[in-house]
Amino acid sequence: MIKFLDLQKINAQYAAELKQAAADVIDSGWYLQGERVKQFEANLANYIGVKHTIGVANGLDALRLILKAYIEMGIMREGDEVIVPANTYIASILAITDNRLKPVLVEPDINTCNLDISLIEQHITARTRAIMVVHLYGQICWSEKLELIAKRYNLKIIEDNAQAIGAIWNGKRSGTLGDAAGNSFYPGKNLGALGDAGAVTTKDDQLAEIVRTLGNYGSKQKYVNEYQGLNSRLDEIQAAFLDVKLKYLDAENQRRHEIAQYYCANIHHPEIILPNSQNSSLFTVIPSEAKGYFSLTHVWHIFIIRTSNREKLQTYLTENGIQTLIHYPIPPHKQGAYKEWNNLSFPNTEQIHNEVLSLPISPVMEMEEVKKVISLVNSFL
Ligand SMILES: *Cc1c(COP(=O)(O)O)cnc(C)c1O
Repeated sequence: MIKFLDLQKINAQYAAELKQAAADVIDSGWYLQGERVKQFEANLANYIGVKHTIGVANGLDALRLILKAYIEMGIMREGDEVIVPANTYIASILAITDNRLKPVLVEPDINTCNLDISLIEQHITARTRAIMVVHLYGQICWSEKLELIAKRYNLKIIEDNAQAIGAIWNGKRSGTLGDAAGNSFYPGKNLGALGDAGAVTTKDDQLAEIVRTLGNYGSKQKYVNEYQGLNSRLDEIQAAFLDVKLKYLDAENQRRHEIAQYYCANIHHPEIILPNSQNSSLFTVIPSEAKGYFSLTHVWHIFIIRTSNREKLQTYLTENGIQTLIHYPIPPHKQGAYKEWNNLSFPNTEQIHNEVLSLPISPVMEMEEVKKVISLVNSFL
């Protein structure tokens, strides 16, 4: 069977280094807030090109803590509005409602599946404080127009960078484009820990300090609590694992890009729409100065195709030994968690949720496997 994502195989590539890293942490006798977290934070800040990196427990907490810090800073208060794409993974929205802020759902562009920036302005009210952009499937959601809107209305831009770590827009990595970003190192993400982990990245000194404090019980000095904080810290052992894997991230993203390019060049089916088919420049990449890797605006966390025959196609691929997934089957506004939105209508969002199917993509996929996926998809009746 061709797995959707073979995590065992991905981590087996680095097994010796990962085992050494684990052994070092075990032997050190120090498991939280130590040298390894500091080292990983510094390496990640250097990689992304951002002033501050704060390790936290997971990607959801990274986003929660950014918003909580803005509340402590007096920049947002209960009931203020945050614009967010209606088709995001539910974590983006949970981070907003958890802080008693109001998500304002905005439709995505049907081709990119990212927030339709041209629709933002009509949703801005006197209570709008931020735009949360989500770099969905690994593709950066950004434009100069977005920057202008944020400036004109004095809004913060928060990046949900859970799926796009390593991507580059105009020479800058995702996670540095906005005022603050939430990053996830969930095992299946492009930079995956061996458990839960996440990080906040920001250039804002005050925000960084408050996020760090909030994630540690609201305390800078032990048993002195300035804020009603959370316990959301990055473990030493996960930081040590992530430091091993960070070195290989560009090479892994490059491999994902090659597979995506191969899929797009070779999947030909009248009933299947390829990702972002309107954007012919998607694969024209700029070599980056560092290490000979390309500058990618899309790091292909997920490779989606769209078809109105999704269920049949998925069954056919399963029967032929190809594991696929759906990202995501139910949009947030149709979830039981948000019953108050169940009657709202977001046509693009619903179409995306009804039509997308995610094909296997990973840095350890063999070319033979990629070709098998393509020939099966092409022969689907
Ligand atoms: C994975 C993910 C998150 C949450 O990250 P966790 O580490 O699982 O908490 C948030 N937003 C998006 C878009 C994600 O894909």
